[in-house]
Amino acid sequence: MRIVVLAGGIGGARFLRGLKRAAPDAEITVVGNTGDDIFLFGLKVCPDLDTVMYTLGGGIDEERGWGRADETFHVKEELAAYEVGPAWFGLGDRDFATHIVRTQMMNAGYPLSAVTEALCHRWNPGVRLIPMTDDRVETHVVITDEQGRRAIHFQEWWVRLRASVPAEAITPIGAEDAKPAPGVLEAIADADAVLLPPSNPVVSVGTILAVPGIREAVAARTVVGVSPIIGGAPVRGMADACLAAIGVETSARAVAEHYGPELLDGWLVDETDAAVAAEGIAGIAVRARPLLMTDVDAAADIARAALDLAGELR
Ligand code: GDP
Ligand code: CA
Repeated sequence: MRIVVLAGGIGGARFLRGLKRAAPDAEITVVGNTGDDIFLFGLKVCPDLDTVMYTLGGGIDEERGWGRADETFHVKEELAAYEVGPAWFGLGDRDFATHIVRTQMMNAGYPLSAVTEALCHRWNPGVRLIPMTDDRVETHVVITDEQGRRAIHFQEWWVRLRASVPAEAITPIGAEDAKPAPGVLEAIADADAVLLPPSNPVVSVGTILAVPGIREAVAARTVVGVSPIIGGAPVRGMADACLAAIGVETSARAVAEHYGPELLDGWLVDETDAAVAAEGIAGIAVRARPLLMTDVDAAADIARAALDLAGELR
């Protein structure tokens, strides 16, 4: 069984941990979002790739959901003492090492996909983790504040502003000229199922699908998605602010209709949204299941339900 998952950070990583338990013999390829990537202090930081790598490799801080377990923040404190920012992005001492190794390898000429593979030698995530592209893509958000109308990096909007200023547009800069990283299209073409975990539909899954060639390749397979929206709200984070920016209502139904029947074959909604399954969505098979990933067992049940639905629809 070959499975491809298009993953963002926390929602993607927790789903993947369940999928590994639900399908221990499957060959799982994860296509990771790199639109959240940012250069900080001269270092290349890939928040979503690292969240997947740390979560599956047993190095994640479980409570925060991002960054390393047993983390300290001495480097950050020292940088602040020099008044060197930004102070709003949390980089711990252990985490810094990952970004130093990555940047060093990239400066030596290795593409991000090769660097990610090298980092995974340490973490053994039990999946093949590939960035969506080796090219630079950066999600920018257009806002209007006291400095006027301007575009800022997604992380500044998300982390510094906590999405409190409305996004007028969200654009993955560079995506239209990006090429899928080596192995991405091949893995999708060979997949028995492509799963969309409950990742952010705009800035995680949407960004991956914006890389030319990926959407078409995915649409040609059996695709089952898991709703990140339960009862009209994101489970965590501020996905509603992203959906508003693209004119999509924050509901399990609207997200499925946004992906559309050309892309999605099956869609899991939470039992809270059982009415959506009862009413149905044109061209998409909808099932209601408990979708809260309270622990790995719960995530495994969700992954099993997604695989069952994919098997039914194949
Ligand atoms: P990020 O890059 O860390 O923001 O993470 P992702 O894009 O992978 O996932 C964020 C999305 O995961 C949010 O929209 C949440 O609503 C969703 N999410 C988080 N935990 C759960 C959960 O337990 N169940 C479901 N269904 N969605 C979740
Ligand atoms: Ca992310």
